[in-house]
Amino acid sequence: MDTALPAGRYAPSPTGDLHIGNLRTALLAWLFARSTGRRFLLRMEDLDDRVRPESAVRQLADLKALGLDWDGDVIHQSDRRQHYEEAVGELAARGLTYECYCSRREIHAAASAPHAAPGAYPGTCRDLSAADRAARRGSGRPAAVRLRSSVSEYTITDEFHGRFSGVVDDFVLRRGDGTPAYNLAVVLDDAATGVDQVVRGDDLLTSAPRQSYLASLLRIPAPHYVHVPLVLGPHRKRLAKRDGAITLSELTKKPTEVVGMLAQSLALSEAHEMTPSGLLQSFDPARIQRRPWVFHPRKH
Ligand code: GLU
Repeated sequence: MDTALPAGRYAPSPTGDLHIGNLRTALLAWLFARSTGRRFLLRMEDLDDRVRPESAVRQLADLKALGLDWDGDVIHQSDRRQHYEEAVGELAARGLTYECYCSRREIHAAASAPHAAPGAYPGTCRDLSAADRAARRGSGRPAAVRLRSSVSEYTITDEFHGRFSGVVDDFVLRRGDGTPAYNLAVVLDDAATGVDQVVRGDDLLTSAPRQSYLASLLRIPAPHYVHVPLVLGPHRKRLAKRDGAITLSELTKKPTEVVGMLAQSLALSEAHEMTPSGLLQSFDPARIQRRPWVFHPRKH
């Protein structure tokens, strides 16, 4: 496949088996990419310490079993640490970063002060004097690196949500333990691999303004965003293990039945059994059901 072609992607975190909501997002990401002549890439977001290598293997097997395919080798964020470091270095050289010594508890306390923007880092370490910084450094807690943002809000455009404005704070680029932050890695990886279409769960919609702002600082064009509705558990909350059978191996259905069920939930087909390539033939994003799907798993 022509690697100059733009791409879409699916980027799971290998911290457990994919559940029906993850599989539905993967199917949509595949349909959006393939129906627009893009490559489809698979990226393991495996920087986190909760990652389990056997999860990645199982996730790939489940995606294949459903009939999804991808171009080239699976990309692993853990192979790309040097690129993240270089970007942090570039931003630091441009005066766009600062070290932050705050603990979670300190951030939480400051962020819940009356005039703080909800969910935003209040900027405690942004303008520390040299003496304060030295004192904080001496305290022994390793510093995180934050972006010195010059906006408090940024607007993105999304195929389903239209123009969306969200908070941009001085978000973390590298955590205190040295781990590159999700918002940084996503932006760099998408750009490095030609991804210009980002289809993912709409729980990440509020992260898109931060990512898009960072991309603009790095002179990376914003991708085409499609934040798709989530699958909820019977209590209309995020689907969770305790809700019952939610992974492919637990569902005791044939993969074609699972794809059929997902397609029905999205209002893309009424067939009991389906394949991704069957769905591709008549894929029309305008028909996608925009409300979250409440899934009632069989209880064990
Ligand atoms: N790794 C993230 C997740 O599993 C998705 C990141 C993204 O699509 O930008 O929720």
